[in-house]
Amino acid sequence: MLTLKNCSILVVLFFIAAFLLRLPAWVYIIICLGYLLVLVWGSSRIHSQFYTSVICSGNTAKPAIAISFDDGPLPAYTPSILASLEQENVPACFFCIGKNVSSHPELTKQIVKQGHIIGNHSFTHHGMFDLYSASRMQAELETTNQLIWELTGKKVRFFRPPYGVTNPNLAKAIKKTGMTTIGWNIRSMDTVAKDERGLLEKLWKQVKPGAIVLFHDTKLITDRILPQFIAGVRNRGFEIVPIDELINEEAYA
Ligand SMILES: [Zn+2]
Repeated sequence: MLTLKNCSILVVLFFIAAFLLRLPAWVYIIICLGYLLVLVWGSSRIHSQFYTSVICSGNTAKPAIAISFDDGPLPAYTPSILASLEQENVPACFFCIGKNVSSHPELTKQIVKQGHIIGNHSFTHHGMFDLYSASRMQAELETTNQLIWELTGKKVRFFRPPYGVTNPNLAKAIKKTGMTTIGWNIRSMDTVAKDERGLLEKLWKQVKPGAIVLFHDTKLITDRILPQFIAGVRNRGFEIVPIDELINEEAYA
């Protein structure tokens, strides 16, 4: 697997080879540009596991999937999404933003009370989060964990990186907190989707054993399609199971 470590070793070997073969300067520039491109690719592709290990699916052949909701809890759609899940008796995982947990403690408690799993999605989800130092990122993770623990008594283990971006600082912060990073392998794109039917068809087509679906409990379209999505998944013979069961990992310490 291509990781930061073996990619860096490869670059050093290329440099040594270029030096020994007395290759021209442009070869060094090409190597540096290639390295930069791989670093950007590794940051933006959560599945690449370039900087840190990330669980993006369950290792199962059974027709089972898990669903997850990022960026809440917020009063606009989280309560309605929770009501749909309760009505359909479907478990989910909510990757909550710490500042939303702080502003909406009752919603946070309700998520856990209804039997859903709660995960950490940073404290601020700030647009510049990926430029923060490792210690600042670690502080965000720990503050959010502390808040959730005070409200629900749950010591969260699951973390999902804001924007799905990983980098060396985040890898350090995750390692320090001992959290398990959770990605997805079906991105609903519900933050930009406009057409409900189109979104449903696209999602149903992608459903496969062990899939983790990424939704946002901050979007009207997600709230509106959820009951139909669940029905369609069931019609295709799939079951929606708790994410910890799907990936065989403890959700709480
Ligand atoms: Zn997010």
